[in-house]
Amino acid sequence: MLTSMRDDTRRWIQADQAHCWHPFTRQGEWCAADHDPLVLTHGQGAWLWDSEGRRYLDGNSSIWTNIHGHAHPAITAAIRDQLEKTAHTSFLGFTHPGAAELASRLCGFFPDHTLERVFFSDDGSTAVECALKMAVQYRLQTGEPTRNGFAAFSNGYHGDTLGAASLGGVGRFFEKFKGNGYPVTHVGSLDDLRALDPATLAGVVIEPLIQGVNEMRPWPAGMLAELRAWCDQSGVHLILDEVMTGFGRTGKMFACQHENVIPDFLCLAKGLTGGYLPMAATMTTRRVYAAFLGSPDRAFYYGHSYTANPAGCAAALASLDMFEQEKTLALLPAKIDHLRAGLATLKAAHPAIHDVRQCGFIAGIELRQPCGTRFPAESRVGEAVCIAARAHGLLTRPILDTLVFMPPLCTTCDELDHALSALGSAFLQIPALTPAR
Ligand SMILES: *Cc1c(COP(=O)(O)O)cnc(C)c1O
Repeated sequence: MLTSMRDDTRRWIQADQAHCWHPFTRQGEWCAADHDPLVLTHGQGAWLWDSEGRRYLDGNSSIWTNIHGHAHPAITAAIRDQLEKTAHTSFLGFTHPGAAELASRLCGFFPDHTLERVFFSDDGSTAVECALKMAVQYRLQTGEPTRNGFAAFSNGYHGDTLGAASLGGVGRFFEKFKGNGYPVTHVGSLDDLRALDPATLAGVVIEPLIQGVNEMRPWPAGMLAELRAWCDQSGVHLILDEVMTGFGRTGKMFACQHENVIPDFLCLAKGLTGGYLPMAATMTTRRVYAAFLGSPDRAFYYGHSYTANPAGCAAALASLDMFEQEKTLALLPAKIDHLRAGLATLKAAHPAIHDVRQCGFIAGIELRQPCGTRFPAESRVGEAVCIAARAHGLLTRPILDTLVFMPPLCTTCDELDHALSALGSAFLQIPALTPAR
């Protein structure tokens, strides 16, 4: 325990360690007497402050959600205005202005008569869950009941609810629940997929352009367009999980736009509200939607209490407005180039950087031993770097020994430089990364 800690900070940490249970966390270590978690209290732009008054650049956009920065006056005002009207009303049996406008704005990003229906839910997992259920029910209602399985990619990540988790290809997360959920075949490549019998498949699910949880690993250019062509030939629905890549992260509004691909289902969440409130959307086509019309038993009986939450819709609409007013996408290419150059300089200075993978404003910096083999898992080098970087004013989290760097899109070139130099300083503090010469 730090002796200089403020009383409030100490009280919050004690209450947390006594009663909170954190996601993806080894609670034994979290609650250890010598672990003082940061208590984040406020933010501004790309920066966050902790309860001790220390400032950090938000290097992973608060777990890949934040787009235009924290405490953005326009987004905050939009939420506040909505709260003065109502915080929540039911979308079951009623509609409201924000949902109607948001659905049409989202469809407006795609050519007419393509993705033209939006089903709202709460998180990335539920956006995917919803696409899977729609895809299965579609087959039941179009005379292909044996097409009830899915193909998904090795090392992919699509969320933690049971259906979404059954697609997951990351053994350390999903092994224990194998056998629950949908019949899923995992493939490593397009060639593996082509070898499957499509007659058993309702859909294939992919994180387009780059797999996030798989240590930020991009797909080969052109792969998505080829996948679309295979789906068309085989009558298999293409389900794109753009929960991470959506809303500008890759340099375009949606990753699928890089290869002019339009999926049958598009799953959106994290950045949808600019990272302000939990909300998700599953978009689909007229063709899919039409199969749910007609007799009452064809309806899609699915939903959550907070579906289309009005405050979330207000935040999402304000975030879309900011893309226009602040010319977010137009400003990105210069920053993406600046980031690429900065990462190259960092790599040249630190032999422990084995590989740098970048896709737009998303980067993964993979650390390995000088001989090119991975560090032993128990050395947790990536984690050590991220913890050391805090003292230099940067917050982020690794995936294994790959450092994730994907700050809010509002981050300036100066702020990028600050973050990369914080990483450089952190490397020098980790003995495993600075072998004696
Ligand atoms: C984060 C993520 C999810 C899950 O979203 P949650 O909001 O955490 O449920 C699904 N797919 C991808 C690609 C993600 O990055």
